[in-house]
Amino acid sequence: MKAPSTKIEPPRLGEPYLLTPGPLTTSFAVKEAMLRDWGSWDDDFRAMTQDMRTRLLSLLGDGADDFDCVPMQGSGSFAVEAMLGTFIPKDGKALVLANGAYGLRSAKTMEYLGREHVVLDKGDYLPPRGQEVAQILADDSAITHVVAIHCETSSGILNPVEEISEATYAAGRKLLVDSMSAFGAIPLEVSKVRYEAMVSSANKCIEGVPGFGFVIARKSELEASKGNCHSLSLDVHAQWDNMEKTGQWRFTPPTHVVAAFLEALRGHEAEGGVAGRGARYTNNRDVMVAGMRDLGFETLLKDRWLSPIIVTFFCPADPNFEFSRFYGLMKDRGFIIYPGKLTVVDSFRVGCIGQMDAEVMRQVVTAAKETLAEMGVASAAPPAAALEERAKLAA
Ligand SMILES: *Cc1c(COP(=O)(O)O)cnc(C)c1O
Repeated sequence: MKAPSTKIEPPRLGEPYLLTPGPLTTSFAVKEAMLRDWGSWDDDFRAMTQDMRTRLLSLLGDGADDFDCVPMQGSGSFAVEAMLGTFIPKDGKALVLANGAYGLRSAKTMEYLGREHVVLDKGDYLPPRGQEVAQILADDSAITHVVAIHCETSSGILNPVEEISEATYAAGRKLLVDSMSAFGAIPLEVSKVRYEAMVSSANKCIEGVPGFGFVIARKSELEASKGNCHSLSLDVHAQWDNMEKTGQWRFTPPTHVVAAFLEALRGHEAEGGVAGRGARYTNNRDVMVAGMRDLGFETLLKDRWLSPIIVTFFCPADPNFEFSRFYGLMKDRGFIIYPGKLTVVDSFRVGCIGQMDAEVMRQVVTAAKETLAEMGVASAAPPAAALEERAKLAA
């Protein structure tokens, strides 16, 4: 689908574009929505909270009636911890699927919670596959839950959540999804992918500012989760129960952030919802990746695994290339890029999300071209070791 043309304006204060996966570049209207103060207990703010929850649920498609949305204060990781601590009972056991920093963070969270878990660690980026999940579940009947990362933002890979979900439910277990960096741009419709709960946050694909996350969970799971949580402030059941009864958050809500997020949700709807937003990001990625490949850069991932969220490139082998200098010169040209997270070879990342369109992405490529010339880098081609690394990934 083609994105309806919503106007993308350059940042009004002339600040650099954030080519990062949140915080990201937001619209002026989103920033402007924060100019007013709101009383947290007042009816107006309660109505805003309710509007936000309803709008988020509408992104789930058919079957959304069985789910509810519970916002939680804090950054995205707080919401992940809230989901794990609330839905995996103290005597449960999780299989955590990891292929990057966020999968490992979920595993570490389980360790902090002192709850039983095993980790399928695929390294820097190789995707966890349905068959592997099926095998592990067949071998270990104590596992009650599978935890999957939708887009693993550390490499930018779009993990195969559909096949992971099928394997999980074929074995009679339950799926929890960290869709932090994907929700709002990549469909996660409950009629197509089965899961019990997922999390995302205000400052990713909906294009709000940082300050809270939200858990979207099956109502039956919410009802059954009373008393599971290790933490007062992260108890999703308690937050939900209180919100249902009073319309209020239990503790001080980030009022301005919620106001900005509502404006961001209106912008999301005007752009054509998940399909429209996903189409713009996909076009951003395609234009940027094609331009960078023309300069000689290579992506870590083969096309099939590239998400429209963020793309990892190998650093050039040329001895004149140095990431910190590249970063600084790109920033001078108005673009903040992101260091890579691969352990084996040097890399950097370029995000495709936020208030940016294909025209901005062309400017990014031009800036990269000028920067290479300024650094005296003749070729952006990666070292042979990088390409050997990539060969491990199936098409
Ligand atoms: C952004 C993100 C998180 C949360 O990170 P915070 O820094 O706590 O907001 C979690 N998982 C994924 C996949 C993410 O992209």
